[in-house]
Amino acid sequence: MDFRYTPEEEALRREFDNFFKEEMKHAPPEWGTSMEAIFGLDECWKFHKQMAKKLAAKGWLSLPWPREYGGQDASLLQQFIFSDVMGYHRGAGVDHWGITLLAPTLLVSANEEQKKEHLPPIARAELFWTQLWSEPGAGSDLAALTTRAVRSRNEYIVNGQKIWSSGAHRADWGFLLARTNPEEKRSRGLSFFLVDMRTPGITVRPVLSMDGSHLFNEVFLDDVRIPARNMVGEENQGWVASQMTSNFERSMIALFAYLRRELEELLEFCRETKRDGRLLAENIFVRHKLAQMEIEINVGRAFSYSVLWGQIKGGLVMAAPLAAAAKILATEMVQRFTATACEIIGTYAQVKESRWSPLKGRYEKEYQQCRGLSMAGGTSEVMRNLICAMGLGLPRSW
Ligand SMILES: Cc1cc2nc3c(=O)[nH]c(=O)nc-3n(C[C@H](O)[C@H](O)[C@H](O)COP(=O)(O)OP(=O)(O)OC[C@H]3O[C@@H](n4cnc5c(N)ncnc54)[C@H](O)[C@@H]3O)c2cc1C
Repeated sequence: MDFRYTPEEEALRREFDNFFKEEMKHAPPEWGTSMEAIFGLDECWKFHKQMAKKLAAKGWLSLPWPREYGGQDASLLQQFIFSDVMGYHRGAGVDHWGITLLAPTLLVSANEEQKKEHLPPIARAELFWTQLWSEPGAGSDLAALTTRAVRSRNEYIVNGQKIWSSGAHRADWGFLLARTNPEEKRSRGLSFFLVDMRTPGITVRPVLSMDGSHLFNEVFLDDVRIPARNMVGEENQGWVASQMTSNFERSMIALFAYLRRELEELLEFCRETKRDGRLLAENIFVRHKLAQMEIEINVGRAFSYSVLWGQIKGGLVMAAPLAAAAKILATEMVQRFTATACEIIGTYAQVKESRWSPLKGRYEKEYQQCRGLSMAGGTSEVMRNLICAMGLGLPRSW
């Protein structure tokens, strides 16, 4: 199999690479790829927004969208190359919720007026979005949600509570799932709305993570009035649109590229650092752990290519079981990697301020923050259920 890019694709890869290499030199010292840093720290958020503007000016936030909505008509492979390079450089500027989740949903499910109103501002990095789906009693079982939207003339009046809303304290707009028909069972009574986060009745309260960082929020909706024209798709058909949202995004190449960079930096550390008079790079246990990471990252990268291939050949829904497998592989791989890095570095991995701790507790922080990756956007267990039902053809078990 030949994985080489064509000369045009290679030129594009180089253009992305040069851009991120240069621009990421200006990142704040606390910058990582973690969502916690982006949304929790003012300096990182400012940098993220500046980078978004630069990416927007190049048209790279909206590569595969049609031109009429601010896109570039690029191929899935070109988008893949962008994500690959961005992941490696821990690149800033892509609003995961607006660009990766909402925009493709709007392209499929929104009406013409909604596409024209909402897609161009996302492509120009003028508005940032948050996802208002999970509730205290509805996570994996999202169809159990109880937030209620009642029609009143040209608007809906919404009451309820959302939780785990990433970056809601920074967002301009949110995409919301609410129950419009309580008579219908579960997913059949839900609708999908777009809501301006400045609408009266919306209260955003922080939920701090175990390391003290601020990514999550609770969002309370008290008599929030949403214009009826902000409903995406038909009333009570919101589940269909939400399934589209869940099916996008998914080769996981950015995470495997990020791991490649992490491994390179860990190797450098092991080549330079001595324990008990010997370089870590000479220790047989350390060497084997590094070799194992090398194997897994290569497997992951190859798997990402196969997801891309599946999406190009069979479409996003056909490739869903492959994408679910890639998500499990990538997110659990990050967790294994950070655990391995902490083990290699030993107790100094946890020390933030000491001359004996040149990495300043970096891997310990990443170890804590990456726990959420295998839950966000569907837990590993839910992904395995999907593989069983859609990939292996087993009967549904829930
Ligand atoms: C980093 C991060 C970011 C997030 N951002 C957002 C956001 O921006 N907006 C938003 O709306 N939500 C967000 N979420 C919430 C996320 O969607 C939920 O955490 C996820 O759907 C799981 O729901 P839950 O936490 O209620 O766990 P539960 O659904 O209560 O699950 C608890 C455990 O039971 C297991 N389980 C549940 N059902 C099954 C089943 N059928 N089969 C096998 N095992 C099962 C789960 O795998 C899990 O281990 C985020 C979560 C994280 C961690």
